[in-house]
Order: sequence, then C-alpha cells, then structure tokens
Amino acid sequence: MNIYSINLADDICADGICCFMSIPKEQNHLGMWKSFLKRGTASYGVKLLYTALEAKDIVYRPCRCLNFYLKEVDTPNGPALRVLLRCGIFGKNCRPYTCKAFPDKADSFMHDVPAPCIYNEYLAHENYVKLKHKHIFTLFYAIKDDHTLLRKIFPGYTAEEVRKKLSQCSEVGKMSAIWNEKPSEYFILEVSKVSSVLYISEAHPKITGVKQAYRLWQGHIETWLERHYGSTWQDYLTRAIEQDDRKKIH
Ligand code: SF4
Ligand code: SF4
Repeated sequence: MNIYSINLADDICADGICCFMSIPKEQNHLGMWKSFLKRGTASYGVKLLYTALEAKDIVYRPCRCLNFYLKEVDTPNGPALRVLLRCGIFGKNCRPYTCKAFPDKADSFMHDVPAPCIYNEYLAHENYVKLKHKHIFTLFYAIKDDHTLLRKIFPGYTAEEVRKKLSQCSEVGKMSAIWNEKPSEYFILEVSKVSSVLYISEAHPKITGVKQAYRLWQGHIETWLERHYGSTWQDYLTRAIEQDDRKKIH
C-alpha cells in the first residue's frame, strides 16, 4: 500500500548533485583534513545514477562529507517524506571555501568550471540539454538497503521502520545491482526537478535558453560541443538557438 509521497526538501541547494558529480579525484578539495573529517551518512551507501536512453549509465559516489537525510512532514495530502542533502562539514551556510565558491567562482575546485551547476542543466529546457549532453538525462538516488545506512539517514527510526516507509512511497522502486562490490538491493528514487532547490545568483542565473546560457558560459559550452560534434559544432548551436526562438514566437 502506498501511503507516502517523497520529494526533495524545499530548500536552496538541497539536491547536492555537485557533491556527487563534481568532486575531484582523491577528494583533494578537503585538503589535509580529509582523513580526520567525519564520514557523512551518504558514504554508507547512497549513489547517484545518471541515465539516458542513448547514454551509458554512470554511477557517482558521494563526497565523503555529504549527509543524506530523510524527514517526515505533514502535508494537506497526508504524511510525506523529504530528502535533504547537506555538507557534513559545516552545514548549509558554511561549506568549505573550495566548495562554497561553486558555482560562482571561476577557479573553484570543480574540474568543469566556469559552468552552470549540474542541477541547473537538469532543469533547463530540453533544447539546451540535448545540445550539450546529446540526450535528455535522468538522475536517480540509489539508496542501499543496508541496516547501518537506513538507521543513519532517518534519525529516530529503526532500519526496519525506514525500510517500511521507503517501500510505502509511490515514487520509490527497488532494484538489485553490483557496482564494484557485493550484489545489493537498492531503493531507487528519481531526483525531482524543483526550481526552489536550485542555487542562483547574479553570476549564476537560472538557464532560460540556449542563447543566454551560451553568452554566460561560452568557453565551457564550446568545449563540450566540440567534443561531441567535432568541427561542425557551430551548426548544432545555431539550430538549437533557432528552435528556441521558434518556441518563443509560438
Ligand atoms: S543546486 Fe547546483 S550548486 Fe547547489 S547542490 Fe545542486 S548542483 Fe550543487
Ligand atoms: S565538502 Fe561538502 S560541499 Fe564540498 S563536495 Fe563535500 S559534501 Fe559537498
């Protein structure tokens, strides 16, 4: 019986996607403190899956400091679960310098910057997403059905209670997978597209169209297009801008 709905907490930067997809190898952004920092709950078995029809599925592991929490809220439609992702070092307002700078700072540690943050691209119109990624992609959280993890991500509940609550969410599926470790069962939850969780600023506005995004992040976008389309990348860009303009007229 489905009695719960589940969604991201309605809060800025509550998806933590860059804490999965953009962390540098060896996590050297954490500096000499790396081995002393407390492990975040996500490291016990939450993964991010990137999947698209024409693309290879990619599994991302979280930064060791990322916390993944569930909390229960009352809504007019009954009880619901909220997913909240937070940096385990300093919480919401005080990320480590290197991470806090993303995505506004051109030389922040993210290997892919200056660029729009990945959640911005996830939310963007399909003309932009298809041009840059060559396909529309979907992101899922994979939450390992593991006693320790389940107990840690939902304080105040036993692993068995958390398992039961997740099984009662209409949006949550179950799958078995082997990702460089023992075969395990995972709860699968699509990362929802909610404008309110996106980090935006003057230097980092929401993507509203191909032309606007290209003007803001020209070098970054050109590198991707050249990688995907070779010397004819400009034709694809022109076509995507035309399609955008046609949409605006109609
Ligand atoms: S909104 Fe962007 S910057 Fe914030 S956590 Fe998500 S991907 Fe990172
Ligand atoms: S240190 Fe914090 S903000 Fe930076 S990648 Fe890790 S969890 Fe995310």
